[in-house]
Amino acid sequence: MTTFRPFDEQGNMIRSGRACTGQTGVVSAGRAEASEIGRDILAQGGNAIDAAVAVAFAMGVCEPNANGIGGGGFMLIRDGKTGNSVFLDFRENAPAAATPSMYTPKAPGSNYDKDLGNVYGGKAVAVPGDVAGLLYALEHYGTMTPQQVISPAAKLAREGFVVTPLLSKDMEEHQPQLMQYGDGWKIYLQDGKPYPVGSTLRNPDLADTLDKIAQGGKDAFYKGEIADRMVAQVAKDGGVLTHADLEGFTVRVLEPVRATYRGYELISSPPPSSGGTHTAQILNVLENFDVASMEVNSVEYLHLFSEVFKICYADRSKYMGDPNFVKVPLEGLLSKEYARELAQRVDLTASQKPEAGNPWKHESMSTTHFSIADKDGNLVAVTRTINHFFGSCVVPEGTGFLLNDEMEDFSIDPTSTNAVCGGKIPLSCMSPTFLLKDGKPFAVLGSPGGIRIISSLVQVISKMIDHGMTLEEAIASPRIGDNVQDLIIYESRIPAETIETLQAMGHKVKAYDDWNRIMGSVNGCAILEDGTLVGAADPRRDGLAMGL
Ligand code: GLU
Repeated sequence: MTTFRPFDEQGNMIRSGRACTGQTGVVSAGRAEASEIGRDILAQGGNAIDAAVAVAFAMGVCEPNANGIGGGGFMLIRDGKTGNSVFLDFRENAPAAATPSMYTPKAPGSNYDKDLGNVYGGKAVAVPGDVAGLLYALEHYGTMTPQQVISPAAKLAREGFVVTPLLSKDMEEHQPQLMQYGDGWKIYLQDGKPYPVGSTLRNPDLADTLDKIAQGGKDAFYKGEIADRMVAQVAKDGGVLTHADLEGFTVRVLEPVRATYRGYELISSPPPSSGGTHTAQILNVLENFDVASMEVNSVEYLHLFSEVFKICYADRSKYMGDPNFVKVPLEGLLSKEYARELAQRVDLTASQKPEAGNPWKHESMSTTHFSIADKDGNLVAVTRTINHFFGSCVVPEGTGFLLNDEMEDFSIDPTSTNAVCGGKIPLSCMSPTFLLKDGKPFAVLGSPGGIRIISSLVQVISKMIDHGMTLEEAIASPRIGDNVQDLIIYESRIPAETIETLQAMGHKVKAYDDWNRIMGSVNGCAILEDGTLVGAADPRRDGLAMGL
């Protein structure tokens, strides 16, 4: 088993050494243990989808604060033989009985309120889609059995994994809630306290749950004992999840969003994610400016990006929602002509007020993304989440896994396109993405980071295409946030003089540390001209890329 640790003896994060190259395949995931499991599956002759499913189940074990079988996600798959890409949507949907009146705001306009009921406890829980989605991918695009791809994750749960500074910190922040609901105290705390950094967390209950899924397939999760436990726990903790909700969960196979940026083709997530659409929209607007001539992270560069973010995110808050419930003007949002109109609105000399604020999102930054590429042109990009770190903090007794708080991704404004409704899927930003050049794979990308998934991806994509940075350099380069609230958040590696000049132009600013996971965590692959595969994991979190 890998001995890689993203932190030193003193518990300080190590910000280098997260990249790799490979000839047969590369896997870049949020934990070394999961990358290793994916690489082993490729070495055993499994394809990229087999590896992806194995990585996903393993990530749920060793980054339990950010993803797991109690959540959901998106998977973008490219078949190297046909060149076709398909998008699997296994995001959670609202239980049938959910209504906007479940969440009464204490303060007007505030979507994130720990007392509202959409963050912690049973009312926060939407119908988990992860198991259905992963097994669907395996059945339709993989070559291995559920046992082959799930057993490494079960072994990891049984033998344990190292607790990192980030995981320990998240345990500390959620300690009161983990004590409160179901088995959280038993699995994700040690004697009621966070696991110390460097200690080993073993989760035999989750190992048993995974074994049951490996043997019984989807039904072992959505029917029978595990389903009984989920329904009972959610009811005990005040929620409305039913057996019918679980049995009725279906995976959606969607056409991805397609766009171009300076000759590169972008393939990414369609609604109910806003991610692919607005990544494409922002890039379409940026295409109207000579970004390549601007120094990366200079005043003119950061001003342009933050102004374009403001304009495009305003559209997001106004128009986006589950297309089965609201009409989304997708063609318009993706149109190059519309982007030219928006580009005219950018004032290159001063910060402008964004349109009416976006009440949808608080600053979430959990979730996890991994990317896989192999020598045959197969690509897989997977972003999965339980929403906030530790999700709803509800662990159904005896199961070992956390249920999501995806209901918080709905707006509590009943007039919003993203209002709560039974069966509806909450709006997402998650954006598993491919870039192709002349029809050939160029990069596989994605990130956690809530609303900043889009802004982080745009910065990495532009740095690779406009400035010719390597994947590793583009990921490591300091980033700014989305500027939705008319506030530029930035990593402190950006020089103080640059920030002062931006302030003089009318920008409000807020500093974060030199490296901060609030800017997402982009785990990606690049495919070089000579066929070499490159993997790079974001040093802002715990990931590592591995190749063979
Ligand atoms: N639940 C969020 C979404 O679907 C992701 C949260 C995060 O990345 O932290 O967009």
